[in-house]
Amino acid sequence: MKDIKQQELLYEGKGKKIFATQEKDLIIAEFKDDLTAFNAKKKSQESGKGKLNCKITSLIFDLLERSGIKTHFQGNIDENRILCKKVEIIPIEVVVRNVATGSISKRLGITDGLKLPFSLVEFYYKNDDLDDPIITDEHCKILNITQNQEELDFLKTQARKINTILTDFFIQRQLRLIDFKIEFGRSSSGDILLADEISPDSCRFWDKDSNAKLDKDVFRQDLGSVKVAYEEVLNRILK
Ligand code: C5P
Repeated sequence: MKDIKQQELLYEGKGKKIFATQEKDLIIAEFKDDLTAFNAKKKSQESGKGKLNCKITSLIFDLLERSGIKTHFQGNIDENRILCKKVEIIPIEVVVRNVATGSISKRLGITDGLKLPFSLVEFYYKNDDLDDPIITDEHCKILNITQNQEELDFLKTQARKINTILTDFFIQRQLRLIDFKIEFGRSSSGDILLADEISPDSCRFWDKDSNAKLDKDVFRQDLGSVKVAYEEVLNRILK
């Protein structure tokens, strides 16, 4: 990792900056302290949040790799930055839900906190101008995201596998994995890899006994200190 040199900024998102390196198939992702919610209509900053998400994402991606999930993660550069394989992000936000809360409760009137009869996998179109609308497989084909049903089925299968691995991992740490969002990308060799991040910015975690929220809902709903909540998630992962 010592020889990797950070080069120009390729892309800046809400939570991360992506930099080129001298290796054409490797990028550096730097985690920011910025907090955004409701498609950036609510914004703030929390010093140290970037480091916490960097550490949590690294530990989770490492766990997933060890469990047989192919990811873009290559290792840590420092507290804020990870080295990743370069991928072209597939513009689908894959959401897995175990318990109804957030947008599904609002959209369909399902009681907040109700355990779903099975884990639900949904696709949302990654498009800020359109507020990331929910989409079907047929929309994906009309939008030309892919014409290949097998690819869409692969995303769903991977999402379910990831859900099983993470639900088991977190319940042993007294955390309920309520729902989460993941993204995938295509590598230069044509593999579909899990990409982006998995952190309390992109998951909902509730304490097993008290159902206390330990994720970005703390920011969305002004429930207290984001840093304290994210540190608690990290400490439980490290247990
Ligand atoms: O808002 P909603 O209930 O649809 O979110 C479902 C899950 O996906 C939550 O864990 C949320 O943090 C995550 N999510 C995300 N980025 C988005 C939308 C949702 O990380 N743009």
